Amino acid sequence: MNKDAWGNLRDELVETVGKNNFVNWIEPLEFSRLENGVATFLVPTHFMGDWVQRNFGENILRLLAAAKHPVSRVQFSVPHMPRKAAAAPRTQPSPAPQNEDCDLPGAPLDQRFTFDKFVVGKPNELAHAAARRVAEGGDVTFNPLFLYGGVGLGKTHLMHAIAHELQKQSPNLKVVYLSAEQFMYRFVQALREKQMMDFKQIFRSVDILMVDDVQFIAGKDSTQEEFFHTFNALVDQNKQIIISADRAPGEIKQLEERIKSRLQSGLVVDLHPTDYELRLGILQQKVELHREKYGNLAVANGVLEFLAHRISNNVRVLEGALMRLFAFASLVGKEITLDLTQDCLADILREADRKVTIDEIQRKVSEHYNIRLSDLIGPRRVRTIARPRQVAMWLAKQLTSRSLPEIGRRFGGRDHTTVMHGVRRIEELKTQDSQIAEDLELLRRALEA
Ligand code: ADP
Ligand code: MG
Repeated sequence: MNKDAWGNLRDELVETVGKNNFVNWIEPLEFSRLENGVATFLVPTHFMGDWVQRNFGENILRLLAAAKHPVSRVQFSVPHMPRKAAAAPRTQPSPAPQNEDCDLPGAPLDQRFTFDKFVVGKPNELAHAAARRVAEGGDVTFNPLFLYGGVGLGKTHLMHAIAHELQKQSPNLKVVYLSAEQFMYRFVQALREKQMMDFKQIFRSVDILMVDDVQFIAGKDSTQEEFFHTFNALVDQNKQIIISADRAPGEIKQLEERIKSRLQSGLVVDLHPTDYELRLGILQQKVELHREKYGNLAVANGVLEFLAHRISNNVRVLEGALMRLFAFASLVGKEITLDLTQDCLADILREADRKVTIDEIQRKVSEHYNIRLSDLIGPRRVRTIARPRQVAMWLAKQLTSRSLPEIGRRFGGRDHTTVMHGVRRIEELKTQDSQIAEDLELLRRALEA
Protein backbone atom coordinates (compact mmCIF):
# COMPACT_ATOMS: atom_id res chain seq x y z
CA MET A 1 0.00 0.00 0.00
CA ASN A 2 1.10 3.59 -0.57
CA LYS A 3 -0.09 7.06 0.32
CA ASP A 4 -2.45 7.31 -2.61
CA ALA A 5 -4.02 3.96 -1.92
CA TRP A 6 -4.62 5.05 1.66
CA GLY A 7 -6.01 8.35 0.45
CA ASN A 8 -8.62 6.56 -1.62
CA LEU A 9 -9.40 3.98 0.97
CA ARG A 10 -9.79 6.18 3.99
CA ASP A 11 -12.81 8.01 2.58
CA GLU A 12 -14.84 4.93 3.32
CA LEU A 13 -14.37 5.66 6.99
CA VAL A 14 -16.59 8.72 6.78
CA GLU A 15 -19.53 6.35 6.93
CA THR A 16 -18.33 4.49 9.98
CA VAL A 17 -16.90 7.25 12.14
CA GLY A 18 -18.97 10.24 11.08
CA LYS A 19 -17.87 13.35 9.26
CA ASN A 20 -16.60 15.24 12.23
CA ASN A 21 -14.46 12.45 13.58
CA PHE A 22 -13.23 11.83 10.11
CA VAL A 23 -12.08 15.41 9.67
CA ASN A 24 -10.60 15.64 13.15
CA TRP A 25 -8.88 12.33 13.47
CA ILE A 26 -8.63 10.39 10.24
CA GLU A 27 -7.70 13.01 7.68
CA PRO A 28 -4.66 14.23 9.60
CA LEU A 29 -3.15 10.74 9.57
CA GLU A 30 -0.27 10.35 7.21
CA PHE A 31 0.38 6.86 5.93
CA SER A 32 4.00 5.97 6.45
CA ARG A 33 4.62 2.30 5.71
CA LEU A 34 3.36 -1.24 5.83
CA GLU A 35 5.90 -3.75 7.08
CA ASN A 36 5.53 -7.23 8.55
CA GLY A 37 1.83 -6.82 8.94
CA VAL A 38 2.11 -3.51 10.76
CA ALA A 39 0.70 -0.37 9.18
CA THR A 40 2.33 2.78 10.52
CA PHE A 41 0.79 6.23 10.37
CA LEU A 42 2.40 9.50 11.32
CA VAL A 43 0.56 11.77 13.71
CA PRO A 44 1.51 15.21 15.01
CA THR A 45 1.22 14.35 18.71
CA HIS A 46 1.32 11.33 20.99
CA PHE A 47 -2.02 12.29 22.34
CA MET A 48 -3.54 12.11 18.92
CA GLY A 49 -1.91 8.76 18.16
CA ASP A 50 -3.27 7.33 21.38
CA TRP A 51 -6.68 8.66 20.79
CA VAL A 52 -6.96 7.35 17.26
CA GLN A 53 -5.57 3.99 18.33
CA ARG A 54 -8.12 3.57 21.06
CA ASN A 55 -11.09 4.93 19.23
CA PHE A 56 -10.57 4.14 15.58
CA GLY A 57 -7.75 1.60 15.51
CA GLU A 58 -10.18 -1.24 14.96
CA ASN A 59 -12.01 0.60 12.19
CA ILE A 60 -8.80 1.28 10.33
CA LEU A 61 -7.60 -2.27 10.72
CA ARG A 62 -10.85 -3.67 9.42
CA LEU A 63 -10.83 -1.30 6.50
CA LEU A 64 -7.32 -2.30 5.48
CA ALA A 65 -8.07 -5.97 5.89
CA ALA A 66 -11.22 -5.66 3.82
CA ALA A 67 -9.14 -4.13 1.05
CA LYS A 68 -6.93 -7.23 1.20
CA HIS A 69 -3.88 -5.59 2.67
CA PRO A 70 -1.81 -7.96 4.80
CA VAL A 71 -2.26 -6.06 8.04
CA SER A 72 -2.60 -7.41 11.54
CA ARG A 73 -1.91 -4.26 13.52
CA VAL A 74 -1.91 -0.48 13.11
CA GLN A 75 0.40 1.84 14.96
CA PHE A 76 0.88 5.58 15.20
CA SER A 77 4.10 7.37 15.61
CA VAL A 78 5.19 10.94 16.00
CA PRO A 79 7.99 12.02 13.68
CA HIS A 80 11.14 12.81 15.64
CA MET A 81 11.15 16.38 14.54
CA PRO A 82 7.56 17.54 14.80
CA ARG A 83 6.80 18.92 11.39
CA LYS A 84 5.52 22.23 12.57
CA ALA A 85 8.36 22.90 14.92
CA ALA A 86 10.84 22.06 12.21
CA ALA A 87 9.31 24.62 9.90
CA ALA A 88 9.57 27.43 12.42
CA PRO A 89 12.95 29.08 12.93
CA ARG A 90 13.98 27.95 16.37
CA THR A 91 15.50 31.04 17.80
CA GLN A 92 13.03 33.53 16.53
CA PRO A 93 11.04 34.93 19.43
CA SER A 94 7.61 34.79 17.95
CA PRO A 95 4.52 33.99 19.96
CA ALA A 96 3.71 30.34 20.33
CA PRO A 97 2.10 28.99 17.19
CA GLN A 98 -1.60 28.94 17.66
CA ASN A 99 -4.72 27.80 15.96
CA GLU A 100 -2.92 25.78 13.35
CA ASP A 101 -4.28 22.57 14.70
CA CYS A 102 -7.82 23.64 15.33
CA ASP A 103 -9.10 20.16 14.77
CA LEU A 104 -6.88 18.60 17.37
CA PRO A 105 -7.77 18.76 21.02
CA GLY A 106 -4.56 20.50 22.01
CA ALA A 107 -2.55 23.35 20.55
CA PRO A 108 0.98 22.59 19.37
CA LEU A 109 3.77 23.19 21.82
CA ASP A 110 6.54 25.65 21.16
CA GLN A 111 9.79 23.68 21.06
CA ARG A 112 11.72 26.59 22.52
CA PHE A 113 9.68 26.73 25.70
CA THR A 114 11.56 24.21 27.82
CA PHE A 115 12.81 24.33 31.39
CA ASP A 116 16.42 24.60 30.39
CA LYS A 117 15.64 27.79 28.47
CA PHE A 118 13.78 29.32 31.36
CA VAL A 119 15.91 31.66 33.42
CA VAL A 120 15.05 31.62 37.09
CA GLY A 121 15.26 34.67 39.30
CA LYS A 122 13.59 36.03 42.40
CA PRO A 123 10.43 37.19 40.61
CA ASN A 124 9.63 33.79 39.15
CA GLU A 125 11.31 31.27 41.42
CA LEU A 126 8.17 30.14 43.15
CA ALA A 127 6.25 29.68 39.92
CA HIS A 128 9.20 27.83 38.47
CA ALA A 129 9.50 25.54 41.48
CA ALA A 130 5.80 24.73 41.35
CA ALA A 131 5.99 24.03 37.63
CA ARG A 132 8.97 21.75 38.18
CA ARG A 133 7.13 19.88 40.86
CA VAL A 134 4.15 19.28 38.60
CA ALA A 135 6.45 18.27 35.75
CA GLU A 136 7.87 15.48 37.90
CA GLY A 137 4.53 13.75 37.54
CA GLY A 138 3.65 11.20 40.19
CA ASP A 139 1.15 12.01 42.89
CA VAL A 140 -1.00 15.03 42.27
CA THR A 141 -0.24 17.23 45.24
CA PHE A 142 -1.94 20.45 44.29
CA ASN A 143 -4.75 20.71 41.90
CA PRO A 144 -5.05 22.92 40.01
CA LEU A 145 -1.76 24.69 39.70
CA PHE A 146 -2.79 28.25 38.96
CA LEU A 147 -0.11 30.53 37.47
CA TYR A 148 -0.79 34.17 37.04
CA GLY A 149 1.06 37.34 36.11
CA GLY A 150 1.30 40.15 33.58
CA VAL A 151 1.94 39.63 29.90
CA GLY A 152 5.29 38.36 28.75
CA LEU A 153 6.39 37.09 32.15
CA GLY A 154 6.65 33.43 31.18
CA LYS A 155 3.32 31.76 31.96
CA THR A 156 2.98 30.09 28.60
CA HIS A 157 6.65 29.19 28.60
CA LEU A 158 6.30 27.36 31.93
CA MET A 159 3.18 25.51 30.84
CA HIS A 160 4.81 24.28 27.66
CA ALA A 161 7.88 23.31 29.66
CA ILE A 162 5.74 21.15 31.93
CA ALA A 163 4.13 19.53 28.91
CA HIS A 164 7.47 18.81 27.23
CA GLU A 165 8.86 17.32 30.41
CA LEU A 166 5.87 15.09 31.09
CA GLN A 167 5.75 13.89 27.52
CA LYS A 168 9.43 13.10 27.60
CA GLN A 169 9.00 10.99 30.72
CA SER A 170 5.84 9.21 29.68
CA PRO A 171 5.14 9.44 25.97
CA ASN A 172 1.77 7.83 26.46
CA LEU A 173 0.50 10.38 28.86
CA LYS A 174 -2.24 12.47 27.34
CA VAL A 175 -1.13 16.00 27.92
CA VAL A 176 -3.40 18.59 26.40
CA TYR A 177 -2.44 22.22 26.30
CA LEU A 178 -4.71 24.87 24.85
CA SER A 179 -5.76 28.45 25.37
CA ALA A 180 -9.09 29.24 26.96
CA GLU A 181 -10.03 30.80 23.66
CA GLN A 182 -9.40 27.54 21.85
CA PHE A 183 -11.35 25.70 24.50
CA MET A 184 -14.28 27.97 23.80
CA TYR A 185 -13.86 27.63 20.08
CA ARG A 186 -14.00 23.84 20.29
CA PHE A 187 -16.89 23.94 22.66
CA VAL A 188 -18.91 26.16 20.36
CA GLN A 189 -18.00 24.03 17.39
CA ALA A 190 -19.08 20.90 19.23
CA LEU A 191 -22.39 22.52 20.09
CA ARG A 192 -22.95 23.57 16.53
CA GLU A 193 -22.12 20.21 15.10
CA LYS A 194 -23.96 18.36 17.82
CA GLN A 195 -20.80 16.64 18.93
CA MET A 196 -21.05 17.41 22.60
CA MET A 197 -20.62 13.80 23.59
CA ASP A 198 -17.34 13.64 21.73
CA PHE A 199 -16.23 16.91 23.19
CA LYS A 200 -16.90 15.80 26.74
CA GLN A 201 -15.30 12.47 26.14
CA ILE A 202 -12.15 13.98 24.71
CA PHE A 203 -11.63 16.47 27.45
CA ARG A 204 -12.51 14.05 30.20
CA SER A 205 -10.09 11.44 29.02
CA VAL A 206 -6.94 13.50 29.19
CA ASP A 207 -4.33 12.91 31.87
CA ILE A 208 -3.11 16.47 32.18
CA LEU A 209 -5.11 19.47 31.06
CA MET A 210 -3.56 22.89 30.67
CA VAL A 211 -5.68 25.91 29.89
CA ASP A 212 -3.83 29.13 29.18
CA ASP A 213 -5.22 32.63 29.68
CA VAL A 214 -8.36 31.48 31.41
CA GLN A 215 -9.48 35.08 32.01
CA PHE A 216 -10.73 34.87 28.46
CA ILE A 217 -13.78 32.80 29.43
CA ALA A 218 -14.97 35.42 31.93
CA GLY A 219 -18.42 36.51 30.92
CA LYS A 220 -18.84 33.65 28.44
CA ASP A 221 -21.44 31.81 30.41
CA SER A 222 -21.95 28.50 28.70
CA THR A 223 -18.23 28.09 28.09
CA GLN A 224 -17.60 28.73 31.78
CA GLU A 225 -20.19 26.19 32.65
CA GLU A 226 -18.63 23.52 30.47
CA PHE A 227 -15.17 24.40 31.69
CA PHE A 228 -16.38 23.97 35.24
CA HIS A 229 -17.73 20.49 34.53
CA THR A 230 -14.63 19.42 32.67
CA PHE A 231 -12.54 20.75 35.50
CA ASN A 232 -14.50 18.88 38.15
CA ALA A 233 -14.56 15.65 36.22
CA LEU A 234 -10.79 15.71 35.91
CA VAL A 235 -10.14 16.69 39.50
CA ASP A 236 -12.40 13.85 40.60
CA GLN A 237 -10.25 11.46 38.65
CA ASN A 238 -7.18 12.95 40.27
CA LYS A 239 -5.89 14.32 36.97
CA GLN A 240 -3.57 17.28 37.08
CA ILE A 241 -4.88 20.61 35.83
CA ILE A 242 -2.75 23.64 35.15
CA ILE A 243 -4.30 27.02 34.54
CA SER A 244 -2.88 30.41 33.76
CA ALA A 245 -4.40 33.86 33.81
CA ASP A 246 -3.29 37.46 33.76
CA ARG A 247 -4.52 37.97 37.32
CA ALA A 248 -5.45 36.09 40.47
CA PRO A 249 -8.65 34.00 40.39
CA GLY A 250 -10.44 36.34 42.78
CA GLU A 251 -9.67 39.31 40.54
CA ILE A 252 -11.20 37.94 37.37
CA LYS A 253 -14.41 39.82 36.80
CA GLN A 254 -17.46 38.03 35.47
CA LEU A 255 -16.18 34.67 36.50
CA GLU A 256 -18.63 32.61 38.51
CA GLU A 257 -17.91 32.41 42.21
CA ARG A 258 -17.88 28.64 42.25
CA ILE A 259 -15.26 28.64 39.51
CA LYS A 260 -13.16 31.18 41.33
CA SER A 261 -13.18 29.12 44.46
CA ARG A 262 -12.38 25.98 42.50
CA LEU A 263 -9.44 27.70 40.88
CA GLN A 264 -8.20 28.80 44.28
CA SER A 265 -8.43 25.35 45.76
CA GLY A 266 -5.01 24.19 44.58
CA LEU A 267 -1.81 26.16 44.51
CA VAL A 268 -1.95 29.74 43.28
CA VAL A 269 1.40 31.30 42.41
CA ASP A 270 2.22 34.50 40.64
CA LEU A 271 5.02 35.58 38.38
CA HIS A 272 6.20 38.98 39.52
CA PRO A 273 7.39 41.65 37.11
CA THR A 274 11.00 40.99 36.16
CA ASP A 275 13.77 42.77 38.01
CA TYR A 276 17.12 43.94 36.71
CA GLU A 277 19.00 40.73 37.57
CA LEU A 278 16.46 38.51 35.92
CA ARG A 279 16.40 40.64 32.79
CA LEU A 280 20.16 40.53 32.60
CA GLY A 281 20.14 36.76 33.07
CA ILE A 282 17.59 36.34 30.32
CA LEU A 283 19.56 38.59 27.97
CA GLN A 284 22.74 36.64 28.60
CA GLN A 285 21.00 33.40 27.83
CA LYS A 286 19.39 34.76 24.67
CA VAL A 287 22.70 36.13 23.46
CA GLU A 288 24.09 32.62 23.55
CA LEU A 289 21.16 31.41 21.48
CA HIS A 290 21.52 34.24 18.97
CA ARG A 291 25.21 33.55 18.63
CA GLU A 292 24.39 30.07 17.41
CA LYS A 293 22.33 31.61 14.70
CA TYR A 294 24.26 34.71 13.73
CA GLY A 295 27.75 33.49 14.37
CA ASN A 296 30.04 35.09 16.88
CA LEU A 297 28.90 38.66 16.78
CA ALA A 298 30.76 40.70 19.35
CA VAL A 299 28.73 42.45 22.02
CA ALA A 300 30.50 45.35 23.67
CA ASN A 301 30.71 45.57 27.43
CA GLY A 302 27.79 47.26 29.05
CA VAL A 303 25.27 46.69 26.25
CA LEU A 304 23.31 43.99 28.04
CA GLU A 305 23.37 45.90 31.30
CA PHE A 306 22.09 48.95 29.47
CA LEU A 307 19.20 46.97 27.99
CA ALA A 308 18.36 45.31 31.29
CA HIS A 309 18.16 48.75 32.87
CA ARG A 310 16.23 50.47 30.20
CA ILE A 311 13.75 47.97 28.84
CA SER A 312 10.52 47.04 30.52
CA ASN A 313 9.29 44.09 32.47
CA ASN A 314 7.88 42.26 29.54
CA VAL A 315 10.33 39.58 28.45
CA ARG A 316 8.81 39.45 25.01
CA VAL A 317 9.78 43.09 24.42
CA LEU A 318 13.27 42.33 25.68
CA GLU A 319 13.61 39.40 23.32
CA GLY A 320 12.32 41.41 20.40
CA ALA A 321 14.84 44.16 21.07
CA LEU A 322 17.73 41.73 21.24
CA MET A 323 16.69 39.98 18.09
CA ARG A 324 16.46 43.20 16.17
CA LEU A 325 19.86 44.22 17.44
CA PHE A 326 21.46 40.99 16.29
CA ALA A 327 19.74 41.03 12.93
CA PHE A 328 20.83 44.60 12.35
CA ALA A 329 24.41 44.10 13.50
CA SER A 330 24.84 41.02 11.36
CA LEU A 331 23.42 42.86 8.37
CA VAL A 332 25.85 45.74 8.64
CA GLY A 333 28.62 43.45 9.93
CA LYS A 334 29.40 45.53 12.98
CA GLU A 335 30.09 44.92 16.61
CA ILE A 336 27.12 45.56 18.88
CA THR A 337 28.15 48.71 20.69
CA LEU A 338 26.20 51.02 22.92
CA ASP A 339 25.90 53.53 20.07
CA LEU A 340 24.59 50.97 17.66
CA THR A 341 22.14 49.79 20.32
CA GLN A 342 20.79 53.28 20.89
CA ASP A 343 20.38 53.86 17.16
CA CYS A 344 18.84 50.58 16.36
CA LEU A 345 16.44 50.49 19.30
CA ALA A 346 15.55 54.17 19.51
CA ASP A 347 11.81 53.58 19.31
CA ILE A 348 11.74 50.75 21.83
CA LEU A 349 13.84 52.74 24.26
CA ARG A 350 11.63 55.77 23.91
CA GLU A 351 8.58 53.62 24.49
CA ALA A 352 10.14 52.05 27.57
CA ASP A 353 11.03 55.47 28.93
CA ARG A 354 7.52 56.63 28.79
CA LYS A 355 6.64 54.90 32.02
CA VAL A 356 4.67 57.52 33.82
CA THR A 357 3.27 56.61 37.21
CA ILE A 358 -0.06 57.58 38.69
CA ASP A 359 1.79 59.21 41.58
CA GLU A 360 3.62 61.54 39.23
CA ILE A 361 0.42 62.39 37.44
CA GLN A 362 -1.34 63.23 40.67
CA ARG A 363 1.56 65.35 41.85
CA LYS A 364 1.89 67.30 38.62
CA VAL A 365 -1.84 67.87 38.32
CA SER A 366 -2.24 69.17 41.86
CA GLU A 367 0.75 71.47 41.31
CA HIS A 368 -0.66 72.70 38.05
CA TYR A 369 -4.09 73.51 39.47
CA ASN A 370 -2.70 74.55 42.79
CA ILE A 371 -4.77 72.22 44.91
CA ARG A 372 -3.73 69.81 47.64
CA LEU A 373 -2.89 66.23 46.73
CA SER A 374 -5.17 65.02 49.52
CA ASP A 375 -8.04 66.93 47.95
CA LEU A 376 -7.28 65.51 44.52
CA ILE A 377 -7.78 61.97 45.75
CA GLY A 378 -10.21 62.82 48.54
CA PRO A 379 -14.03 62.89 48.51
CA ARG A 380 -14.72 66.59 47.82
CA ARG A 381 -16.83 67.20 44.77
CA VAL A 382 -16.62 70.94 44.17
CA ARG A 383 -15.81 71.73 40.56
CA THR A 384 -12.40 73.31 41.36
CA ILE A 385 -11.28 69.95 42.66
CA ALA A 386 -13.43 67.53 40.74
CA ARG A 387 -12.29 68.83 37.35
CA PRO A 388 -8.56 68.49 38.04
CA ARG A 389 -9.31 65.03 39.42
CA GLN A 390 -10.92 64.09 36.11
CA VAL A 391 -7.97 65.53 34.25
CA ALA A 392 -5.65 63.36 36.34
CA MET A 393 -7.80 60.31 35.64
CA TRP A 394 -7.70 61.02 31.93
CA LEU A 395 -3.93 61.34 32.02
CA ALA A 396 -3.65 58.11 33.99
CA LYS A 397 -5.73 56.37 31.35
CA GLN A 398 -3.68 57.84 28.50
CA LEU A 399 -0.20 57.56 29.86
CA THR A 400 -0.18 54.43 31.96
CA SER A 401 -1.31 50.92 31.27
CA ARG A 402 -3.43 50.81 34.40
CA SER A 403 -6.98 49.56 34.10
CA LEU A 404 -9.98 51.65 35.10
CA PRO A 405 -10.51 49.76 38.37
CA GLU A 406 -6.84 50.21 39.25
CA ILE A 407 -7.02 53.90 38.53
CA GLY A 408 -10.17 54.15 40.61
CA ARG A 409 -8.42 52.49 43.51
CA ARG A 410 -5.59 54.99 43.32
CA PHE A 411 -8.04 57.85 43.42
CA GLY A 412 -9.35 57.19 46.90
CA GLY A 413 -11.00 53.88 46.09
CA ARG A 414 -13.41 55.15 43.50
CA ASP A 415 -15.43 52.83 41.32
CA HIS A 416 -14.27 52.18 37.76
CA THR A 417 -17.47 53.69 36.41
CA THR A 418 -16.53 56.97 38.08
CA VAL A 419 -13.19 56.86 36.32
CA MET A 420 -14.85 56.04 33.03
CA HIS A 421 -17.23 58.93 33.45
CA GLY A 422 -14.35 61.29 34.27
CA VAL A 423 -12.33 60.16 31.27
CA ARG A 424 -15.32 60.63 28.95
CA ARG A 425 -16.06 64.04 30.37
CA ILE A 426 -12.51 65.19 29.66
CA GLU A 427 -12.69 63.74 26.16
CA GLU A 428 -15.73 65.95 25.54
CA LEU A 429 -14.27 69.05 27.13
CA LYS A 430 -11.06 68.64 25.19
CA THR A 431 -12.89 69.58 22.01
CA GLN A 432 -15.05 72.31 23.56
CA ASP A 433 -12.83 74.04 26.06
CA SER A 434 -9.53 75.33 24.76
CA GLN A 435 -8.24 75.96 28.27
CA ILE A 436 -8.67 72.30 29.18
CA ALA A 437 -7.10 71.24 25.90
CA GLU A 438 -4.11 73.40 26.65
CA ASP A 439 -3.80 72.09 30.22
CA LEU A 440 -3.86 68.55 28.98
CA GLU A 441 -1.19 69.18 26.41
CA LEU A 442 1.02 70.96 28.90
CA LEU A 443 0.67 68.30 31.53
CA ARG A 444 1.22 65.52 29.10
CA ARG A 445 4.42 67.06 27.86
CA ALA A 446 5.68 67.73 31.36
CA LEU A 447 4.99 64.13 32.35
CA GLU A 448 6.57 62.60 29.30
CA ALA A 449 9.66 64.77 29.39
P1 ADP B 1 3.11 35.05 29.06
O1 ADP B 1 2.47 33.77 28.65
O2 ADP B 1 3.26 35.18 30.55
O3 ADP B 1 2.52 36.26 28.44
P2 ADP B 1 5.36 33.93 27.63
O4 ADP B 1 5.49 32.65 28.36
O5 ADP B 1 4.72 33.88 26.29
O6 ADP B 1 4.62 35.02 28.55
O7 ADP B 1 6.79 34.61 27.53
C1 ADP B 1 7.08 35.63 26.59
C2 ADP B 1 8.45 35.39 26.01
O8 ADP B 1 9.43 35.61 27.00
C3 ADP B 1 8.65 33.96 25.53
O9 ADP B 1 9.40 33.98 24.35
C4 ADP B 1 9.42 33.31 26.65
O10 ADP B 1 10.26 32.30 26.19
C5 ADP B 1 10.22 34.46 27.20
N1 ADP B 1 10.45 34.34 28.65
C6 ADP B 1 9.63 34.73 29.64
N2 ADP B 1 10.18 34.50 30.84
C7 ADP B 1 11.38 33.92 30.61
C8 ADP B 1 12.44 33.44 31.46
N3 ADP B 1 12.35 33.49 32.79
N4 ADP B 1 13.53 32.91 30.85
C9 ADP B 1 13.62 32.87 29.51
N5 ADP B 1 12.68 33.30 28.67
C10 ADP B 1 11.56 33.83 29.20
MG1 MG C 1 0.83 33.46 27.45
